[in-house]
Amino acid sequence: MADCLFCQIIKGKVKTDFVYEDKDIVAFKDIHPKVPVHILILPKKHIDKLQDVGDNDKDLLGSILLVAKKIAISQKIDQGYKIVINCGRKGGQEIFHLHFHLLGDWKNKN
Ligand code: 5GP
Ligand code: ZN
Repeated sequence: MADCLFCQIIKGKVKTDFVYEDKDIVAFKDIHPKVPVHILILPKKHIDKLQDVGDNDKDLLGSILLVAKKIAISQKIDQGYKIVINCGRKGGQEIFHLHFHLLGDWKNKN
């Protein structure tokens, strides 16, 4: 997807530091964090939204949750966090490349 912002980030065309990367998944800090720790975790493969995943994406979806667990530890929020997926415009999705919001550290929120 040439015009997809998150594909550009994955390809390194929009410079972004990754907090995690493997062959299928990347994670980076949200540019406008809603809480003190706000990480986006996404597949490298372009999928518009959760509603478009197929049976062949089962392993990928499971892997993303396992990555979330690891990042929660590295970001020191493993005592409590939320994972949010906005699906579709009516679900609040703004960037149409599937991503999981990992949200933590509420007690430091102003
Ligand atoms: P959505 O509403 O699609 O679920 O979430 C998209 C998220 O991407 C928003 O929280 C927004 O702040 C974040 N975002 C938008 N543009 C950029 C960007 O260029 N870099 C990063 N790191 N995050 C972005
Ligand atoms: Zn994309």
